[in-house]
Amino acid sequence: FPVENIRNFSIIAHVDHGKSTLADRLLEITGMWHVTECNKQVLDKLQVERERGITVKAQTASLFYNHQGQTYLLNLIDTPGHVDFSYEVSRSISACQGVLLIVDANQGIQAQTVANFYLAFEAQLTIIPVLNKIDLKNADPERVESQIEKVFDIPKEDCIRISAKMGTNVDQVLEEIVKRIPPPAARTEDPFKALVFDSTFDHYRGVVTNIALFGGQVSKGDRIMSAHMGKVYEVNEVGVLRPEEHPTDRLYAGQVGFMIAGMKEVKEAQIGDTLFHQKHPVEALPGFKPAKPMVFAGMYPMDQSEYNSLRSAVERLTLNDSSVTVQRDSSHALGAGWRLGFLGLLHMEVFNQRLEQEYNASVIVTAPTVPYKAILSSAKLIKAGPVPSTEEPVHLTPKHFHLIFLILYQEHGGKEITIVNPAQFPDRSVVSEYLEPMVMGTIITPDDFIGKIMTLCLGHRGVQKNVVYIDNQRVMMKYLFPLNEVIVDFYDHLKSLSSGYARQDTVYAGYQPAELVKMDILLNGKSVEELTMVVHKDRAYAAGKALCERLKDCIPRQLFEIAVQAAVGSKVIARETIKAYRKNVLAKCYGGDITRKMKLLKKQAEGKKKMRRIGNVEVPKDAFISVLKRK
Ligand code: GDP
Ligand code: MG
Repeated sequence: FPVENIRNFSIIAHVDHGKSTLADRLLEITGMWHVTECNKQVLDKLQVERERGITVKAQTASLFYNHQGQTYLLNLIDTPGHVDFSYEVSRSISACQGVLLIVDANQGIQAQTVANFYLAFEAQLTIIPVLNKIDLKNADPERVESQIEKVFDIPKEDCIRISAKMGTNVDQVLEEIVKRIPPPAARTEDPFKALVFDSTFDHYRGVVTNIALFGGQVSKGDRIMSAHMGKVYEVNEVGVLRPEEHPTDRLYAGQVGFMIAGMKEVKEAQIGDTLFHQKHPVEALPGFKPAKPMVFAGMYPMDQSEYNSLRSAVERLTLNDSSVTVQRDSSHALGAGWRLGFLGLLHMEVFNQRLEQEYNASVIVTAPTVPYKAILSSAKLIKAGPVPSTEEPVHLTPKHFHLIFLILYQEHGGKEITIVNPAQFPDRSVVSEYLEPMVMGTIITPDDFIGKIMTLCLGHRGVQKNVVYIDNQRVMMKYLFPLNEVIVDFYDHLKSLSSGYARQDTVYAGYQPAELVKMDILLNGKSVEELTMVVHKDRAYAAGKALCERLKDCIPRQLFEIAVQAAVGSKVIARETIKAYRKNVLAKCYGGDITRKMKLLKKQAEGKKKMRRIGNVEVPKDAFISVLKRK
């Protein structure tokens, strides 16, 4: 197929602005797919995607389009629909020369529209603005076109007004793709060079990668190599996607398709990696970086007897998602489990939902934390003790960790370490600076809510960077936040105080120094490691008080008084007291019935098995679950 007649493009949009509907229409018009009620939105395959209306795994489709007597090959490269997956979006985009930027003609530019625009803009792609849903009664294309001109500096005249639902002007979209987007600058005569922009795992065939050919050609039997992973494979199968797989003899420069080459794990087919012929090495395509998890949480089976089945479910899910990191972990209260790392909160929710829906697993997920960093001070080393064995499942006490840490410190004085588990947060005495991850948040809102939103942002340690009116009622605000402040309840608050009108999107913005402290929770003076938290020093008091209050409600009274305390270092910052109470299980039996007496005693003993003893205090597992679990 002549390269001049190939167009590679993506559709990018804020959630619900009509990306999937337009994709379906394009497939339908070009005759690749007959859209019916049951195959509607063929590009969104997973159950979570249909339920949440977001794309998690990108799908790709090649279409043929006849225009002025010529046949064009249009490769529609779908992108994940959320910024948690922004690295994947940027890789999908780098397989393209242009994008359709869809904006709802009623809602106008939203936070994700802005984030996605910049990804395409930075990749120097042709951007075709498309106003969708012009059939809606409240559609106001004039206003939205002015927003586009103002925010993106794209002339109004460049916008195409369509209704993906009714099919209005969708032909024109195809025409403009051919006219405005350049063909890929790839030559078949050059050595084979391809970008991996997606990969999935198939139980029968191993890893299936989606590739875009930047040069040369590839066919079955070729020996290829990956630039970053450095492994050699023999190609078993290549073909095009329509969007289902159609094997072909060969893929040529400029084309987009799938490849199966004996890779056994998705980790081998890293998104953004470059493939080439083993005998003709080429320079790797720029921009590769391995996925970096930014949100961590503990995950435990509801019951330890389900550990093995949960493990195999986690293993199978991670086979398909190399961006989740898995580390074994264990807690006295919750038993053996894992500490998982995700790209963002949505990624974590999607993962949990898939575990529950596709693998029928019931799990306890702990409140998420972010990866903090600490720069180790280069003061003199205190004598270090032996390092405990790290054979799994390992449970590190703070004392153990302190020893390991001292050794780290000895080897790496002045260096930076990353901490994903609050129990392992190093002491201030050996740290010269703590750092926390930041995000830049874009919030778009009707101006009635500005005041309330500013107060909310301030309450989450947000620093205002920019405020502009994008039309006469709508404001775009930029705030720099500590990631930790926005991963839990920020979105919910934002939505409720703006009646759902404000939209926000965040992009990682590096690390900044912060005065962080480790807060311990003590029961009668003994620390409960599971509840250790890292907090900003100005937040410690409120967080400690809230935790103590919650714990007080969850721990039953015992024979003696229990002090529930939050402490930073040796300083107690909050305290609650659980009064003594004698629980006499025999009180109701008036002496007589001995079997009943035995039964009750046995019941009490069973109840105790589910308890964890901290010092002299017994804490039911449920108390841990209700305190640790995400709301
Ligand atoms: P996505 O999240 O960007 O993939 O959006 P979808 O394609 O899933 O569309 C979101 C909702 O908007 C669905 O209920 C669609 O039926 C609806 N929709 C999409 N395009 C149009 C349109 O042109 N007009 C109207 N009225 N509704 C549309
Ligand atoms: Mg969709």
